[in-house]
Amino acid sequence: MVKENNQEMNEKNTVEKVTLVTEALEIIKGFADGFATTFKHLFRKPFTEEYPEYKRPLPERARARIILTRDPDGGERCVACYLCSSVCPVSCISMQSAELKDGRRYAAWFRINFGRCIYCGLCEEACPTSAIQLTPDFEMCRREILSLVYEKKDLLVDHGGKDKEYNFYQYAGVVTDVGDKGSHIQEEKPVNIKSNMP
Ligand code: SF4
Ligand code: SF4
Repeated sequence: MVKENNQEMNEKNTVEKVTLVTEALEIIKGFADGFATTFKHLFRKPFTEEYPEYKRPLPERARARIILTRDPDGGERCVACYLCSSVCPVSCISMQSAELKDGRRYAAWFRINFGRCIYCGLCEEACPTSAIQLTPDFEMCRREILSLVYEKKDLLVDHGGKDKEYNFYQYAGVVTDVGDKGSHIQEEKPVNIKSNMP
């Protein structure tokens, strides 16, 4: 019995030693990797970008100045649904909704305070119509803080931005110039909510 207990203790000690050695080796490897990276950069030729003479081309998905885009027919994409302003973590978007005679909603006014915007991109993610989009244009620094409050006329552009082909009303089921409800691309026929039939 005593012999068996001693054997168990020995096995336990061996496992603990192996674990300790493995952990120690991992820590040493971590340090070695860090120092190797530092040394690699110590002997590398410095590379300086002379901004603003040289402006590094940024990817299309870079997150800076915000625009309000138009659909391929030239109409305003924004339907003033307030999703972007609801999701904005710093509450820097505000607007007033209005309605056209054909039932289409639009923003009577739309305002973004870029003095507060943190360029997180959540408004773009939330927008169902692809109206609000962030662009790579980051050069909007101003001394006058109030000049960073952009109105709709400053935000609205005459193109579709990153998503040129998307037309929300072709999917949304509203009667439009391009067809009745249920006749648009990928649009199901309207559901009769008073019927029990599937
Ligand atoms: S990028 Fe972020 S902080 Fe800026 S307006 Fe959109 S949601 Fe708000
Ligand atoms: S920009 Fe998009 S999310 Fe914001 S109100 Fe307009 S349609 Fe809605």
